Amino acid sequence: MSTAARSLFSFEDTFVRELEGLYLPWQAAPAPAPRLLALNAPLAAELGLDPEALAAPEGVAALVGDLGPDGPTTVAQGYAGHQFGGYSPRLGDGRALLLGELIDVDGHRRDLHLKGSGRTPFARGGDGKAAVGPMLREYVISEAMFALGIPTTRSLAVVATGEDVLRETALPGAVLARVAASHLRVGTFQYAARLKDREVLRRLADYAIARHHPDAADAENPYLAFFAAVVAAQASLVARWMNVGFVHGVLNTDNVTISGETIDYGPCAFMDAFDPATVFSSIDEAGRYAFGNQPHIVQWDLARMAEPLLPLIDEDQDRAIAAATAVLDGFPAQYEAHRRRGLQAKLGLTDAEPEDGPLATDLLDLLHRGRVDHTSAFRALAGVLRGDGAAAGALFADSAGLAAWTARWRAQLAAQGRDAGEAAAAMDAVNPVYIPRNHRVEEALAAATAGDLGPFERLVDVVRRPFEEREGLESYAGPAPEDQGHYRTFCGT
Ligand code: AMP
Ligand code: MG
Repeated sequence: MSTAARSLFSFEDTFVRELEGLYLPWQAAPAPAPRLLALNAPLAAELGLDPEALAAPEGVAALVGDLGPDGPTTVAQGYAGHQFGGYSPRLGDGRALLLGELIDVDGHRRDLHLKGSGRTPFARGGDGKAAVGPMLREYVISEAMFALGIPTTRSLAVVATGEDVLRETALPGAVLARVAASHLRVGTFQYAARLKDREVLRRLADYAIARHHPDAADAENPYLAFFAAVVAAQASLVARWMNVGFVHGVLNTDNVTISGETIDYGPCAFMDAFDPATVFSSIDEAGRYAFGNQPHIVQWDLARMAEPLLPLIDEDQDRAIAAATAVLDGFPAQYEAHRRRGLQAKLGLTDAEPEDGPLATDLLDLLHRGRVDHTSAFRALAGVLRGDGAAAGALFADSAGLAAWTARWRAQLAAQGRDAGEAAAAMDAVNPVYIPRNHRVEEALAAATAGDLGPFERLVDVVRRPFEEREGLESYAGPAPEDQGHYRTFCGT
């Protein structure tokens, strides 16, 4: 490693040392003219990195994978995956590399990983590259998710490579530097299970337990407890997505993490009008990954994780299946509990269910029938408690429906002894004003692709403080005008 790169990063390499068989050593493709487009200074600080050093030429070179002749062993990770239900035994990092692990200021181990760093032996037909737009998209949406309090991978930097990538047209290329609790996924287990060396699977499970779910090590059956911990983390994660209207868009088994972080911001987007059938991805024709189907499909993905774990859970296959099935069957109830608590918080309620039926789901029905904007609606309801129902009134065409529902809601707040002002303040702390609205994201990426980073930087600033209404940002708070048509997103770009 060049001295500059060495002084920038103190990489550790537990993945490389402990999990041989699950990666191929590989190097980033050279970038002809690297230029920093975005650098996440707060994240750099969390990692104990110096933002100024990262922004200097040696830092920017390091952020596209140029770590000098005696740099660390960078690797493309292997994983398998069910993509839209069809199994691919060998996906892996086709255009990504693990640079190494960093210990952050809180003592947590984090991966530093590149996306768009050139073809690897896993690339299949792909070119190994990424375009500026989609990498900035991952940056801004993952930053929004973090600010919303949702577990997620982060984006440390986006660097333009100075090279065009060929998509439908030629687009400027970029590399994203991504930070994650790890890049272990359900698909990593599927990949390990197919290797001839059976020991790799056990080493992977032990590694994942130690890194992410250490309590499982003390359980009577550590591998079953580990599976249960992953199921629990995912049940909580999906509920959080649902409570902000996030549609991941491509919940293949290679995009479901063991840590419980959201990963792989491809065709994801936030829903405007509430509708469980919401799909943005142009290739998700059957709606497999529609908004309302996310809990179900993540449970399906977790079932794919149970399969490789069976031999570790119990030597007797029937017993292993019974034990894993029992854990998996607990997913819906865990998810529902998180979702219910989340919705109650969004309504300023404590967790007792009202006697006259589920208030929150009745509200969602009202939103659905009226095609009401999900984010604006919850925010406007706090206004109702403050004596200003104008914003809510403007959103709901069905004013009688809204009035009837509001009366029940107020009665429930009163029954719980909730002060209206307190409840409104509590709601504002969990219901965002600002999410990365689709038209704002598109506008920012189009400008950035054409060379103007201003709109992107403003959008990042807006979504970093999602709960605090700020003057002058009104136009970031609502959906696009109806006449813009249905929003579409694209995969693998
Ligand atoms: P994703 O849809 O990003 O989860 O990617 C699915 C798989 O396709 C992974 O194995 C990626 O590494 C691979 N992939 C996506 N885009 C490219 C590309 N441009 N070049 C090579 N591999 C790619
Ligand atoms: Mg992926």
